[in-house]
Amino acid sequence: MSDRRIYVVLLGVPGAGKGTQAKLLEQSTGLPQISTGDIFRYNLKNQTELGKLAKSYMDRGDLVPDEVTIRMVQDRLQQPDCVRGAIMDGFPRNLVQATAFDTMTAPYGGVRVAPLIQVEDDETIRRITGRRSCRTCGAVYHVIYNPPKVEGICDVDGGELYQRDDDKEDTVRNRLFVYYKQTAPLIGYYYAKGLLREVDGAMSIEAVQQALLAIVVG
Ligand code: ADP
Ligand code: AMP
Ligand code: ZN
Repeated sequence: MSDRRIYVVLLGVPGAGKGTQAKLLEQSTGLPQISTGDIFRYNLKNQTELGKLAKSYMDRGDLVPDEVTIRMVQDRLQQPDCVRGAIMDGFPRNLVQATAFDTMTAPYGGVRVAPLIQVEDDETIRRITGRRSCRTCGAVYHVIYNPPKVEGICDVDGGELYQRDDDKEDTVRNRLFVYYKQTAPLIGYYYAKGLLREVDGAMSIEAVQQALLAIVVG
């Protein structure tokens, strides 16, 4: 195939470390991170029509409707920075999205690999409840595991760190429920295609990154 691209689908429960790892992979591979959650939060902050539509779903921890999400990803993949492929973070999130993604990427060789970052539930909860995100650039920290140099301030751009509304306990519970019901079937989906690679997500951020790099470029 002449125009083969590298599409990496990061899988894992909310809080597993997909966003953290996607940003590092972006730096080391030059492939852009596409985080549907970040795109929705950007639209929410800027009060766009898309943001208004997504808000009620995100507040509950439910998935935004497929039609809207798939169209948004299709548009994003057409941006010039995606000509070599992309690191998908938080998409696809159910089987409808996964088959739509296969169709979109088929002309470029389809999904290259689907690493699954595996973390126990207890650790996931600790990671989500301690997560702090930058209001301006979306960088992700953890109050204990990955603190910023100055408390409450982003190392990258000095932005204010905040706790996402959907990182509070009630919503987290529903997000985990939605994950097991709708997203976990993707593990079997990519396994059957020979694309699944399991990574121990309990390791340090650096060790997980090394394991992922070996999978993506190795
Ligand atoms: P996801 O994108 O899968 O929801 P994040 O990348 O936002 O997960 O990570 C969730 C939280 O866990 C963040 O606070 C992040 O700093 C922290 N974290 C990520 N990877 C690790 C790791 N390997 N060890 C400890 N904490 C981690
Ligand atoms: P995340 O940042 O990946 O934790 O996503 C935050 C929220 O954005 C989710 O709880 C959903 O409401 C919404 N969202 C993100 N990605 C998707 C997706 N692929 N499909 C539907 N909703 C999504
Ligand atoms: Zn920042």
